[in-house]
Amino acid sequence: MSKTILEMDNVTIRFGGLTAVDSVDMKIEEGTIRALIGPNGAGKSTIFNLITGIYPPSSGEIRFRGTLINGYKPHLITELGIARTFQNIRLFSEMTVLDNVKIGRHCRTKAGFLGALLRGPGVKAEERAITEESMEALKILELDHKADELAKNLPYGEQRRLEIARAMASNPKLILLDEPAAGMNPQEKQTLMSMIRKIQDKGLTIFLVEHDMKFVMNLSDRIMVLDYGRKIAAGSPAEIKSNPAVIAAYLGK
Ligand code: ADP
Ligand code: MG
Repeated sequence: MSKTILEMDNVTIRFGGLTAVDSVDMKIEEGTIRALIGPNGAGKSTIFNLITGIYPPSSGEIRFRGTLINGYKPHLITELGIARTFQNIRLFSEMTVLDNVKIGRHCRTKAGFLGALLRGPGVKAEERAITEESMEALKILELDHKADELAKNLPYGEQRRLEIARAMASNPKLILLDEPAAGMNPQEKQTLMSMIRKIQDKGLTIFLVEHDMKFVMNLSDRIMVLDYGRKIAAGSPAEIKSNPAVIAAYLGK
């Protein structure tokens, strides 16, 4: 029997009069790739914000590996094993590739980034471990040979992969990718797809929001479709492709 890693039970969030996510139920099985699709403004990024503790749900329950995580602060959720990337690139462009990953990793340590800069005793060993783990994450995204370059000098597709490497450095069990292929050319998308599969092979679970249908259909085990905050369909790629409600939601825009 496959294990559920993430479960949403009747989750709703309202922003003033707007119900951005409306009574959403969902179960993601460990080790799978799940996609979340839907028109702009459907509530996809908000679902990621709910899972990562940026907003607490107005009602409903979110469980990660059986633990109710409603209302947990983002850093605690990272520590439990959920990492994410954002829809828009969030890199420190004047810093090196390696330091961009290490910053993600430092957020989890007692000493913190400032402590690491001050280099007190005991921090050095921790610092070495962080560098090693960060290089491991870069290796998975095939950026280890660029560790010392400035982030701003990477081609666009590699900057987006760097963000995934940063998320990977916190050693997550579940990784949320918000439009990882956006703006990429077909070659960059192909590369990204094979790397996401590599991440899955490492035993991680992947939950991604993506507009490129070919990308989604090729990669996902199951797909959930959101429209105006509501789940309008869920199923395998083949089921979703032929679902009339999905076709209507997309063609209606
Ligand atoms: P998607 O990622 O599917 O394009 P979002 O989740 O970003 O959509 O947004 C869903 C809806 O919720 C939109 O109408 C958006 O304007 C609204 N929304 C998202 N975050 C906030 C917020 N912090 N305050 C008010 N409205 C928000
Ligand atoms: Mg979004």
